[in-house]
Amino acid sequence: MCDAARPINETGVCPECVKKLITIKGPFCEKCGRPVSREGEICSECMTSDFSFDGGKSIYTYASVSDSIYRFKYMNRASYGKTFGRLMAREAADWLEWIKPDALVPVPLHKKRLIKRGYNQAKELADAISEVSGIPVADYLVKRLKNTVPQKLVGKKGRGINMKKAFIVEENVVSFKRIVLIDDIFTTGSTIDSLSAELKDSGVKEVFFLTISRGGT
Ligand SMILES: [Zn+2]
Ligand SMILES: [Zn+2]
Repeated sequence: MCDAARPINETGVCPECVKKLITIKGPFCEKCGRPVSREGEICSECMTSDFSFDGGKSIYTYASVSDSIYRFKYMNRASYGKTFGRLMAREAADWLEWIKPDALVPVPLHKKRLIKRGYNQAKELADAISEVSGIPVADYLVKRLKNTVPQKLVGKKGRGINMKKAFIVEENVVSFKRIVLIDDIFTTGSTIDSLSAELKDSGVKEVFFLTISRGGT
């Protein structure tokens, strides 16, 4: 995304920026969607950590979108959410059709950070994906209790502890069998994992995630 006044296509991206987007190529880890060498393989991360989510997908390589994601989150470009969300809905159309989620749940921001930023980037993405796919957004289900330190600033060991009890399920979620969590980047998985665990404890059967990108790609 470049903010240039150029003609754009239906997703809101100009032709120059479309060329720069690189989708993550499979085969993918059956559990977390990380690229692996063989079809049907489970990645080393999923072999050693017992993630509570059931599966997930990330669309673009980190290198091809990291600058745009930075501006989206930290430089007041809330409008990028619409563009990225439409792209995500398009790239993950078959996957979403296969999962048939009851709702999309954006990973919540803590109130303090939400006030500071003025918007939750995950909610902006979820709204745009919903517009294209018709899947409802249920952002009222969960609340973030802790204003956690960004995961990238926490050592690997501290990540699990950092996210422990970071979320609370506020609504009765029994009517939701399958949920897809929406976020900008899947980094270590601990945020998504913590939120999935909380939702499952409250009775959701299956939890998946969809992100623009993931670390290390
Ligand atoms: Zn552009
Ligand atoms: Zn994996």
